[in-house]
Amino acid sequence: MGTKLNILPLKEWFDTDGKPLIISGPCSAESEEQIMQTGLALAKIPQVKMIRAGIWKPRTRPDIFEGVGEVGLEWLKNLKIETGLKTCVEVANPQHVEACLKNEVDVLWIGARTTANPFSVQEIADSLKGVDIPVMIKNPLHPDLKLWIGAFERLNQVGIDKLLAIHRGFYTYEKTPFRNLPMWEIPIELKRLVPTLAVITDPSHICGNRELLQNVSQKAMDLAMDGLMIESHINPSVALTDASQQLKPEKLKNLLDQLVLRQEFGNEDFENLLEKLRFEIDHIDEELLMILSRRMHKIEEIGYYKKDNNITVLQMDRLRQMMISRLKMGKDLDLNNKFVLKLLQLVHKDSIQAQTKIMME
Ligand code: PEP
Ligand code: MN
Repeated sequence: MGTKLNILPLKEWFDTDGKPLIISGPCSAESEEQIMQTGLALAKIPQVKMIRAGIWKPRTRPDIFEGVGEVGLEWLKNLKIETGLKTCVEVANPQHVEACLKNEVDVLWIGARTTANPFSVQEIADSLKGVDIPVMIKNPLHPDLKLWIGAFERLNQVGIDKLLAIHRGFYTYEKTPFRNLPMWEIPIELKRLVPTLAVITDPSHICGNRELLQNVSQKAMDLAMDGLMIESHINPSVALTDASQQLKPEKLKNLLDQLVLRQEFGNEDFENLLEKLRFEIDHIDEELLMILSRRMHKIEEIGYYKKDNNITVLQMDRLRQMMISRLKMGKDLDLNNKFVLKLLQLVHKDSIQAQTKIMME
């Protein structure tokens, strides 16, 4: 999938000192005191470079706290003066954009529910024509990479080139330890397709609780993500939204201090050895594919033999036996059981497809 995105790299419009961009602040602005106290505490944490706050909150049902509205933007403006930190706010429609621009919000972000709706993204984009402001786009609720990229394209088409992606995980029906599944392969694929686009992770909305935050933040760093957006609140237990996932500023400081930041590239010796090891992997992959090709030829041979003798494609007993013996083999070879199961299912599905095609020739 090609993209025509023309994106200004993060380091050309925001000085992060070569470190990951750390954004923090409450899920929602609730009162001037809450915003001010949280923000002043965050300003003492050197890693934090930008303050976030939700002003209009997308709630599942009406008649609960839906954000303080425009007055919160004045509080944020005061906080900016007090701390010197940049601010960012979620916008979901052109009225939000207008209010943010009027109140000198530095960076806008589009939330997961809005990214999922191309009409809304287009309206926001149209309201930003001719405006020079950075826009961060959260992934849509469901794992649809094209829809996410489409949102960047809509913003880019009206001239916004300071774009940044926020990975906040994906909705799932399954019961998992996460509020939203990280599905790291999606932000990684986004980075592969759009190399100049920085992607930051939002561990708060991925985890939905405080306990998993450290691990998910570390994983984001180990996967070379470009920063983190973590929710914080001066008193999370009384927060009006997302109370169970927000961190007190001092806890955020601990989390950030404990992060191990690794380099994406090493010195010459390291790179030389890495190249040698990668060469070995390339060779192993080649063997793996040749073996799979040999297996597929054998599958076809069996397919013709079954067809000539009027035998069904599938024999359940054989499948059962095969799975048991291969899973045991995988276990003896110290391979992850779930991985072997998925791999065998994939190989078997393709084999069935190949033999079914032969039957229909
Ligand atoms: C938020 O950042 O508080 C928020 C509503 O997030 P999301 O759009 O990722 O659900
Ligand atoms: Mn939130």
